[in-house]
Amino acid sequence: MVILVVAIIVHGGAGTVKKEERIPKVLDGVREAVLAGWRELKRGSALDAVEEAVKALEDNPLFNAGTGSVLTLDGKVEMDAAIMRSNLEAGAVAAIWGVKNPISVARKVMEKTDHVLLGGEGALKFARLMGFEEYNPVTEERLKQWQELRKKLMESGETRHWKKLSALIKEYPEVLRSTVGAVAFDGEDIVAGTSTGGVFLKMFGRIGDTPIIGAGTYANEFAGVSATGIGEVMIKLVLARTAADFVRFGLKAPEAAEAAISIATEHFGRDVAGLIMIDRDGRVGFAKNTKHMSVAYMREGMEEPYTGI
Ligand code: ASP
Repeated sequence: MVILVVAIIVHGGAGTVKKEERIPKVLDGVREAVLAGWRELKRGSALDAVEEAVKALEDNPLFNAGTGSVLTLDGKVEMDAAIMRSNLEAGAVAAIWGVKNPISVARKVMEKTDHVLLGGEGALKFARLMGFEEYNPVTEERLKQWQELRKKLMESGETRHWKKLSALIKEYPEVLRSTVGAVAFDGEDIVAGTSTGGVFLKMFGRIGDTPIIGAGTYANEFAGVSATGIGEVMIKLVLARTAADFVRFGLKAPEAAEAAISIATEHFGRDVAGLIMIDRDGRVGFAKNTKHMSVAYMREGMEEPYTGI
């Protein structure tokens, strides 16, 4: 007999943390977030746990979600977020700005509308209706990084092609991929949530994998998954859903995570993807083909969270 174990896992994005001295701060950030989620989970709700954990990461300017989101080519913040439950209820926002916690707006989309995904102006209008106040998530540090990166891009003579952006991403990997996510299991419900500012210098209007159900975020009766990395890869491979399918067909979360990431590596090479997941027995799994992905998790019976990168 399998004993169901209550659990929560969070990530702070896949990529490369270039500056070594940043690593302890990143680990502190995921640790704090998993503990914030754990407190809610102990009260019984995976949904509240995921929202709280993701909010803690959105509010930490180190991570590329909420406060500290990266800027688009034209210097704006356009954030994506999604939340999904094992009963297939889901809510998401894409290219939203002017709010503090996109994950909470995504939850409202799930609970208060008949839709799954609201984008741009409409998402913002809905957020205001729901009482989310005006908030500017742009930080000084991100603005400076944006100015430097944009200058480089201009000097390179190409402004339209993703290939040039990819070269820039390779040069400055640490600022590009620190999307955040959380998955929790409360003994009944499995919930997954993801939030991001996207990729630096993305084109205005570009929507990544995070708010696309099945790509960056997914939950069903088998597993909950939150992915990170180059969004276009996850969209093309429907990666989060693929990882959940591996559980459906018999794998446990740790193997399912590895199997899904190996598909990403096969098609697009290394340094493109990472994901965290929990299966219906409460096993946690995480895998990446990037150098780093900060992770923290807590399961019933553990005194302290595991953290790693
Ligand atoms: N997946 C995110 C996106 O492409 C970026 C990330 O994970 O850092 O929007």
